[in-house]
Amino acid sequence: MKITQIEAIPFAIPYRKPLRFASGEVHVADHVLVRVHTDEGLVGTAEAPPRPYTYGETQQSIVAVIGKVFTPQITGLSPLERQQVHARLDRTVGNPTAKAAIDMALWDIIGQAARMPVSELLGGWSDAMRVSHMVGFAPTQEMVAEAERIRDTYGITTFKVKVGRQPYTQDVEACRALRAALGEDVSLYIDGNRGWSASDSARALRDMVDLNLDFAEELCPADDVLGRRWLVSQSTIPFVADESVPTPADVTRELLAGSATAISVKTARTGFTASSRVVNQCEAMGVEVVIGNQIDGQIGTLCAVAFGAAHRATTRRAGELSNFLDMADDLLAEPLVISDGTLRVRPGTGLGLAIDPDKLARYRQDR
Ligand SMILES: [Mg+2]
Repeated sequence: MKITQIEAIPFAIPYRKPLRFASGEVHVADHVLVRVHTDEGLVGTAEAPPRPYTYGETQQSIVAVIGKVFTPQITGLSPLERQQVHARLDRTVGNPTAKAAIDMALWDIIGQAARMPVSELLGGWSDAMRVSHMVGFAPTQEMVAEAERIRDTYGITTFKVKVGRQPYTQDVEACRALRAALGEDVSLYIDGNRGWSASDSARALRDMVDLNLDFAEELCPADDVLGRRWLVSQSTIPFVADESVPTPADVTRELLAGSATAISVKTARTGFTASSRVVNQCEAMGVEVVIGNQIDGQIGTLCAVAFGAAHRATTRRAGELSNFLDMADDLLAEPLVISDGTLRVRPGTGLGLAIDPDKLARYRQDR
């Protein structure tokens, strides 16, 4: 079986409610649908979400690098020649979500060819994950109302609170209000997207010590090298690296430097192959992992749950799998459903992923 063609189709789906956080805001899911075709008729599918403020990729850059650079490099290879594929993709630096989408689409083909679910091929630990919901910036009472609605509607009891604004008047107050409204049965953690300084982060963590936060993520820039180490060394909860660890090498660097004590794994940026490497690396070093959300749509979420449920380490904490709830629509023929706070892996061979052709025709941007 040979790779014959890669389609990179830009599409745009509006959000019902924009997501706001310290490093940006999202109003439209302007993603790229990636479809890898083979000479045996199998087609692998995944999506690449451009995050210009995090990785420098745009919708146009993803379409261009796949069309002009990656497609000629891997056409003619077998989808099973994964080491060859990655050696060729990695000649180009950066472009994490474009590479990850190709990797996940190839795994989709492998699963279909083997007539096995990808999640079982990856590890087969479980067929579902508990879901964590991200609460973005809004006035405090709106953040509380959203968390209560998500808990009551979907049974979700883990919330990631975006922080990184003015720490004491906005963020600490919001966390305090969420804990008061939701009670102790709910898990809360915070993500600063590098918005605070190390000293503000340290003070805010001290101020919130009674709130029983599970962990804290990217509160200050990893580039503030000594400040970050100072902060992490005094944190009483795991300190998660996310956008500072886009590759397995960055994971090693940040952990060995003492700049993080836990790692966010995002299939949108490391696909399945490099995400497996990151999880193995973290398990070997005794470091916790959490399945993060790259502001994914339903296709990306389906990939994240297939990977997260497959591994013991990634099922220990709830995965960030609910961002698509804020989108007005999606491309999947059969929408994902979260119930009892849980998202199940799609059954069937490969990723079990079918695109609705009418929706694709409606939302694609290239025609
Ligand atoms: Mg994050």
